[in-house]
Order: sequence, then structure tokens, then C-alpha cells
Amino acid sequence: MAIDPWETAQGQLELASKRLSLDAFLHARLSQPDRIVEVSLPVTMDDGSVRVFSGFRVQHNNIRGPYKGGLRYHPDVDMSEVKALSFWMTMKNALIDVPFGGGKGGVAVDPKKLSASELERLTREFARKLYPVIGPTTDVPAPDVNTNGQIMMWIRDEYEKIAGKQSPAVVTGKSLDNGGSEGRTEATGLGGSFALEALMQLKGESLKGKTVAIQGFGNVGSYFAEYAIELGCKVVAVSDSKGTLYMNQGIKDIKAIEKHKKATRSLEGFPGAEYLDPSAVMLLDVDILVPAALENSITIDNVNDIRATTIVEMANGPTTPEADAILNEKGIMVIPDILANSGGVAVSYFEWFQNMNDENWGKDDVFSKLKAKMTAAAEATFASAVKNSCSLREAAYMVSISRLADK
Ligand code: NAD
Repeated sequence: MAIDPWETAQGQLELASKRLSLDAFLHARLSQPDRIVEVSLPVTMDDGSVRVFSGFRVQHNNIRGPYKGGLRYHPDVDMSEVKALSFWMTMKNALIDVPFGGGKGGVAVDPKKLSASELERLTREFARKLYPVIGPTTDVPAPDVNTNGQIMMWIRDEYEKIAGKQSPAVVTGKSLDNGGSEGRTEATGLGGSFALEALMQLKGESLKGKTVAIQGFGNVGSYFAEYAIELGCKVVAVSDSKGTLYMNQGIKDIKAIEKHKKATRSLEGFPGAEYLDPSAVMLLDVDILVPAALENSITIDNVNDIRATTIVEMANGPTTPEADAILNEKGIMVIPDILANSGGVAVSYFEWFQNMNDENWGKDDVFSKLKAKMTAAAEATFASAVKNSCSLREAAYMVSISRLADK
């Protein structure tokens, strides 16, 4: 049976709310999004035919500041998924302590099946339809799965045409020459490595020689892999939707794998590596497992075969509640998504701040500010877990919800 991400999100809210004896009004505010926008996107295709796509923007909550969250282009995008992702953004932004609320959006489309000009027309139409509800101080979209700096640039351009003024802060994740920030591309993967490093230090454990397997070799997974190697980990596997690349001796050169994937559109055939099926990555005998693809990759069907003792949720919502309970029972440390992948929105905030104040920060500056934010969020989560004798996930939700309650 399909797992509904919105139900997962609500279950997480209920657990933390009970523990905190949450005020009924705040509980009601967090239980449903503030606003749901669904738009119809007619697009003229290159062959002259017209196709109509569905676009979504869910503004979950703005107690702490403008709604903020990515736009996803994927055939499986639907309202339940976008609602859940917007809720997780509210929680994440409170935990990483940036002055933003939570939002998320997307279009149900497989962008790989569109030409570049079809993708541009679709995106510009989406921007025109979102115009009334987005803006630098109301709702600030960013890239997510299958969206990137180019797509953000089209949105910025379309927004500015209607607004009649420069508004670089209407989106984040822009390219450097279009108002973006140094370090945004690396931010989510790097931030995850900072969170892992901080929690291991708090537990008094070393990362040297720890073996790692990573599901998903996109923006997040590939940078996480690079930085994990820098921390002394041995990354033995990375995967994409088609297969798993496995190297028992440890991967040395992540960039070489990226080049190979770009050239062949596959992880298969990389010199010196074995090629396994896509599900194999989850079950390898490693210390650290990193889901960095999509929701629901750790479920009741595979959780009992997972051998890792630490899980770093770089994807949003990769673990179902049932599977999460089993991981807890087994004492497996799960670094929850709202902490592990919050580096992306932290640097999105830095980008927005630079745009709003006409500043340009260097990469070292961005990375040291990111490290400070990730370490503080990891420490707050760990302290809450110790104080409440609970999992890091519940602890993270309690920190976030308490901060929302304090506003
Ligand atoms: P991406 O599109 O760059 O990469 C996604 C990767 O996942 C691709 O390599 C794809 O092949 C792989 N994948 C898809 N289905 C898979 C499957 N069934 N098995 C194995 N691999 C599969 O996307 P991304 O930006 O790297 O995002 C990955 C995850 O991280 C998403 O859950 C996203 O919401 C989350 N996230 C991203 C950011 C960001 O800054 N990009 C920030 C926070 C969270």
C-alpha cells in the first residue's frame, strides 16, 4: 500500500505535540497549511500541441518569517507530498534557526522528457501563476529534485517582469552570476557532513574509517560523499534510480564518478567497481547509510535487513513511521532529515540575506557560518534527546516546535 507522506508528517507532529503538551491553537495552526495553491499550466510543446500540467505551492506556516522551500519537478508530485514537504520545511527552518516559515511546491512532470525550451515555457508559466503569492518577503522558492539555478533564473526573470523592479531575493539557489551565493550548490551535502561530525563528537565516536553507502547520486548525495571522504570515512557505494556502484576498497574520486555518469548517463561500467541493483545500496554491510534520493526508501519491507548503525537522512522523509520505530528499538542512530539536510536552506537564507542587503560573502565565510549553524542545531537536538530520553527525530521536533511556540 502506498505510504502517504502527509500522514507521516502528521504522525510526527502528534508525537512531539503530546510530549510538549502543545497549546491547542498552535497545534491547530501546525496541523494544516496556511494556504494551498494549485495552478493549471498550459504549455505549447515544440510540435505545436498543447499539454496542461498541474503545479502546486503549499504555504504551511509563516510564524517565524516568509514561507520558504523548494520546487520539485517529478511525475509523482502531488498535493499530499507537497503538503508534507512544506510541513517539514517549517520544522527545518525553526531547527536551523533561520527567520523563515515553511513552504514547498512542485509540478507533476518528468522534466527529462521535455526539451529545454519546453521546460523554460513551463517554468515561466508556473512563475506567472505563482506571482500573486510569492515574493522576497512573502514566499521564497528554491531548487529541489530536478530543479536548478537555471529554473530559478527563469522564475526570477518572470517575477521581475511583472513586478517591474529588480527582486533577486524572490528565489534562492540562483547561479552566482545571477545573484546566487557562494557555496549554495555544496551546502546541503556539506551541511549533512557537519551534522554527522558534530553528533559523532557528542557521542565520543570517531568517523575515521567508518564505511558509508549513499542512496541517490544527485546534488545532495554526491557532495555528501565528497565531504564524508574528507572527514575520513570510507564511502563504498553510491546509487541512482538504475543501480548501485560498489567499491569494497572505498571510492577515492567522486568527481570521476560524476564525469562517468554524465558521459554514460549511468553508474554502470565505472573502472574497478561492481554494479549491483538499485535496492542493494540499502542493505550493504556498512556503518553509515545515507538515503539521499526520495521519500519512503526505508520501509517495513527492508528495515530489518539494514545493517548500518547510523542513518543520515539527507533526503526528505526517507523513513516511514513503522520503519522508524524499528530503527529506534534496535538502537540505530537516525539523524533526522530536518536536521541532516537543513544546510541547503541555511545557505539559502545566507543568499536571501545577501540579496536583501546588497552584500557578497566569500565561500570560506559561507562555509564557516554554515558549520556554526549546523553544529548549533545538532547540539540543541542532542541535548533535547538526552533531556527527554527520546530519539533524535522526536528531539528535533521538540526543539522546532518550542521555537515556534516562543514566537
Ligand atoms: P537530484 O535530482 O539532484 O538527485 C536525486 C538523485 O536520486 C538522483 O541521482 C536520482 O537518480 C536518485 N534516485 C531517484 N530515485 C531513486 C531510487 N529509487 N533509488 C536510488 N536513487 C534514486 O536531487 P537532490 O537535490 O540531490 O535531492 C535529493 C533529496 O534531498 C530529496 O529528497 C530532496 O528533497 C532532498 N533535499 C535537497 C536539498 C537541496 O538543496 N538540493 C535540500 C534539502 C533536501
